[in-house]
Amino acid sequence: MNRIVYKGLIYDRNGLRKSTVIIEDGIIARIYDGIVDISGEIVLDYSNYNSIVAFPGFIDLHIHLRDFNYAYKETIESGTKAAVHGGITIVGDMPNTSPRIDNQSVLSKRIKLFKEKSYTDFYIYVDVSIESISDIEDMLKNPHVAGIKLYPDKYYVLANESIFHLLKKYDKLLIVHPEEPYLINIFEEELIEQIIKRDYHIEAIAVNHIGLASEIHGLKRVHFTHVTNPYSVLLSKRYGYTVDTCPHYLMFSYERIFNNCKYKVLPPLRTEAHRSLLFNMLLSGNIDAVSSDHAPHGVLEKTCCPMTCPPGINGVEITAIYLGHLYSLGYLGLKDIYELLVFNPSRILNLKHYGNFSKGIRGNISIVNFGCTTCIKPDILYTRAKYSVYDNMCFKSCIEATIVGGVLVYHRLKGTINKPNPVSLNNFS
Ligand SMILES: [Zn+2]
Repeated sequence: MNRIVYKGLIYDRNGLRKSTVIIEDGIIARIYDGIVDISGEIVLDYSNYNSIVAFPGFIDLHIHLRDFNYAYKETIESGTKAAVHGGITIVGDMPNTSPRIDNQSVLSKRIKLFKEKSYTDFYIYVDVSIESISDIEDMLKNPHVAGIKLYPDKYYVLANESIFHLLKKYDKLLIVHPEEPYLINIFEEELIEQIIKRDYHIEAIAVNHIGLASEIHGLKRVHFTHVTNPYSVLLSKRYGYTVDTCPHYLMFSYERIFNNCKYKVLPPLRTEAHRSLLFNMLLSGNIDAVSSDHAPHGVLEKTCCPMTCPPGINGVEITAIYLGHLYSLGYLGLKDIYELLVFNPSRILNLKHYGNFSKGIRGNISIVNFGCTTCIKPDILYTRAKYSVYDNMCFKSCIEATIVGGVLVYHRLKGTINKPNPVSLNNFS
């Protein structure tokens, strides 16, 4: 039997308390109130630290792990090692890979690769294409598939009502990139024009468009991802749907792009006025989750010319320590971190058996140290994309350790240690 013992503070929907958590063979086997003298193969004893808190494993709803033909940018192995370095235990993989995950054959290859290489638990969103529309039902039946990722260039497929029917039939999620496609002018020649014309109104219009279409078809599970615009947040609530945003939209405004392609991302960074409004929406509890939209590229690709360099910011290692930083500064409570990274993502994904320290639940745990500081340099990153918009920034929190399926996969003093046997959504629902 393989046993990990955690002693110290824990936080879940029952609040903060000092406990001893026993994980045996991947599952939380017992929980004791207070500190109990029990041995195990690995004992993580933080009973004397009030700054170290264990949470049920953090979930990143939106990540691009590349691999396949883009393995030079990131692989499932390197990207999930980066994820556990950032305290993430479940990742939602996006389908704009090369080749795209829009048919059964590519989906099968993706699942095989995850089972062999991933350091986190995982699930996959699939893309829809008219050419492979007959595959959609089979893909949605697959227990590893959380739902459909709807990109702006695919909004037109919703004219096919069977998409709504299948999402309802298999109880899957529609996760939407909200930018209204016919308003995006990709032919603008100047960078400033590209950014200003791709403005925040386009996002809110898309939320209204997809929100209305989904409401009319009785779709309950719709999520708008990487929102940048406070009005999009309000609109999605009007429909009863959920939203996430990303650390870069909360921290940076668009002026940064002019000197540095690392800040180029879609949707674009917004004005300082909108950034600060969005930040206040986070503090007031209107945003359901924070995802990374981790989108790694080759270093040379991102050090080139802003007009032609690819969009995307790599941040799977940042999300949790950024929220930890906001806790250390007094902006957020432990409850907010729990809701943004565990409780609400579990609710969005419909995971009924996840997000709590309870007997019989899979042993995924993220341990955060609010008493230490993480300073970002390319050489501390585990991602293959060794550059960062967070370069030289320091965050007042660290990931102390990450446990996935009862396996200690990351420890602050030892790095990534062991590979877990990754599982998927059906183990939690
Ligand atoms: Zn993305």
